[in-house]
Amino acid sequence: MHTHTTISDGDYTIREVLNIYKDNGYDFLGITDHEIFCDSNEDAGITLVHGIEEASSYVGNDDRSGTYAHFNCFLPKANGEVKAYYYQNILDLQGTLDELKNKYELVQFNHPLFSRFLDNEHLALNGYDLIEIYNHKDFVEETGMSNAENLIRTMLNNHKKFWISANDDFHGPYYGTKNDKCFGGFNMVCADNNEESILQAIKNGYFYPTTGPMIKDFRREGNIFKIETTPVKRIIFYSNMRRCKNIYDLNDEEITYGEYEIRGNEFYLWVKIIDKDGKIAWSQPVYL
Ligand SMILES: [Zn+2]
Ligand SMILES: [Zn+2]
Repeated sequence: MHTHTTISDGDYTIREVLNIYKDNGYDFLGITDHEIFCDSNEDAGITLVHGIEEASSYVGNDDRSGTYAHFNCFLPKANGEVKAYYYQNILDLQGTLDELKNKYELVQFNHPLFSRFLDNEHLALNGYDLIEIYNHKDFVEETGMSNAENLIRTMLNNHKKFWISANDDFHGPYYGTKNDKCFGGFNMVCADNNEESILQAIKNGYFYPTTGPMIKDFRREGNIFKIETTPVKRIIFYSNMRRCKNIYDLNDEEITYGEYEIRGNEFYLWVKIIDKDGKIAWSQPVYL
């Protein structure tokens, strides 16, 4: 849900990035160049999801100078013009977001750590559909942080609602199997393999972000949440409660199943799984 091409500052053409991802097993690829909505009809045997990365830049000369917020947008409501947005405070940025929500059905808040907002600014901003818990470019090359999980948890504890996504933000270059700039974060979507179905499923939260391991099933039966996964070392259920439930094998074997019984005061439940290589998948937060 986040890829650049030669249409903006990427190193590869749309055709080339589609081929790179198709050859590595992906079913769909979101093309989101800066300030240009993708209008390509390339048929490379992989579903092309058309989007754009819109920006709002901070204007000011203090220590926030150079900061900007980026939003990936999909499903345009009309052929609105793309323009430059600016903000001086979070209210201005809310204005940008409101305009984007008038222009597009689906808006993603990109690389939140890179944007360097304060936690209270994140808490004040409302209306995007999803936020990147993992942006491969941001975490590998830019902030050096592993993921935005702490920020997401702070927001969940403050009753914020959104879906979470994981993306490469791939710009290139591509070094074949040695490449470390792509295949870092991706989304598993429960949908038919066409653009409309994929975007509708994402809008509805029928997907989860991962950097490797897979969630095979996740369901609620009565007061019990059950999750089945590919082999992992840990299955961790989080909520707003003080204690999480941290499931692992005492002999350090891999596990594929975990469950959690609702205790009563949870207003959200969230699961993460960690495999032997430290790669992570997250469920969407479940709002109880
Ligand atoms: Zn960006
Ligand atoms: Zn980007």
